[in-house]
Amino acid sequence: MDGNEFRDWSIRAAEWGADYRETLRDRPVRPRTEPGEIFRAIEPSPPEDAESMEKIFADFEATIMPGMTHWQHPRFFAYFPANAAPASVVAEYLVSAMAAQCMLWQTSPAATELEMRIIDWMRQALGLPEGFSGVIQDSASSATLAAVLTMRERALAWEGNRKGLAGQRAVRIYSSDQVHTSIDRAIWVSGIGEENLVRIPVKGPLRAMDVAALEAAIIDDRANGFLPAGIIACVGGTSVGATDDIASVADIAGRHGLYLHVDAAWAGSAMICPEYRHFWAGVEGADSIVLNPHKWLGAQFDCSVQFIRDSESHVRTLAIKPEYLKTHGHDGIVNYSEWSVPLGRRFRALKLWFLLRAHGLQALRTMIRNHVAWSEKLASRLAAEPDFELVTEPMLSLFSFRHRAPAGADADEHNLRLLNAINNDGRIYLTQTKVDGHFAIRFQAGQFDSTAQDVEMAFAVIKEIACDLG
Ligand SMILES: *Cc1c(COP(=O)(O)O)cnc(C)c1O
Repeated sequence: MDGNEFRDWSIRAAEWGADYRETLRDRPVRPRTEPGEIFRAIEPSPPEDAESMEKIFADFEATIMPGMTHWQHPRFFAYFPANAAPASVVAEYLVSAMAAQCMLWQTSPAATELEMRIIDWMRQALGLPEGFSGVIQDSASSATLAAVLTMRERALAWEGNRKGLAGQRAVRIYSSDQVHTSIDRAIWVSGIGEENLVRIPVKGPLRAMDVAALEAAIIDDRANGFLPAGIIACVGGTSVGATDDIASVADIAGRHGLYLHVDAAWAGSAMICPEYRHFWAGVEGADSIVLNPHKWLGAQFDCSVQFIRDSESHVRTLAIKPEYLKTHGHDGIVNYSEWSVPLGRRFRALKLWFLLRAHGLQALRTMIRNHVAWSEKLASRLAAEPDFELVTEPMLSLFSFRHRAPAGADADEHNLRLLNAINNDGRIYLTQTKVDGHFAIRFQAGQFDSTAQDVEMAFAVIKEIACDLG
């Protein structure tokens, strides 16, 4: 592809993107496709000879697009949002055109220095105190893995990386059963092992760790020869928004010398609004905090911000310096590859810079407040219907509900049928969870372009389809 063709196709792609965003409301949120349909429509072998971009682009539209789920759809109420605000998408075009590796300061000084500045912008936006530095990771899963490795190394007096875990006392990590599966995977990958992830029972409407049980488990483990290393708390758990009492957990972590990682992957973005910060009161006592601006805040995926209190422990755990990565003569500078597990790094700060400037914090706060208000209103409208019940109350913009099954029908099966019928209809998209062993339908509002009318339509669709099911 020569320079002129690159120009033309880049313009075509940008125009396609704008058209796509304009027509989203008219598309079904989830595609109507059967498993294997698209796989079979794609040539089984790679071409020997070049094909025209015209043909490739036409196939993209004909074969790929019908199989896409539209995460930017204003009536996407499933999972958590994965917003890509247009300003952040524009930044991603630029990043993708430059394709710089931003692993060391010298492999792109602007990327490193902007990242340092943006981390501090985010710290201020979220109301975190000075003293936190941080890094933009690809995902919360990576941030949590980095935190777990740091907990492990700190507890093992920095011997785990060198000697491995054989012959060491078993490292113990504490969390509730409401944390994301990325915590389990970090425990597996770090060699700590699932049996050493101690699950603390939860209580109360927010399903917070029972802090007395947490402290008892730590004391008990120590008495039994285990090595307590860290606690993973959540603010806005993925299933129904479970939220730990961070102040009490931080207090226990401090008294027992444990490392505290707070997973606020989804809910963290809401902390740009001061009135929601009570949900993570005490967070300044954490050693590590992760939130995903690629979820609610509007930064194109991937963009996960990890705040770190003691960057020395973090870098001591993760940094490795072969000769070819040494940056001679530039001591004291930040090389962000020493802050994460992968070496190669995309230039992720640019899209946050574009996003924060193009919208300003005021507009982003208004968006989040609207989502919360619309979601609360929908929850109370459903709760007022005789055939619906709330399973969990709104935590920010997330709640779960159930429809009453007809006499003789199984409630779980009935609600699964309802969910499938709603999603096959295509006007809205919802997902499910299990609460205390029973099926519940989740709803969250968080899409960048959602309006009050979109959430009202959700009410109409849910009611209409539940009524049709009888
Ligand atoms: C989404 C989510 C994660 C995982 O985020 P990735 O960036 O996809 O790794 C972890 N924890 C919580 C609470 C989440 O909502």
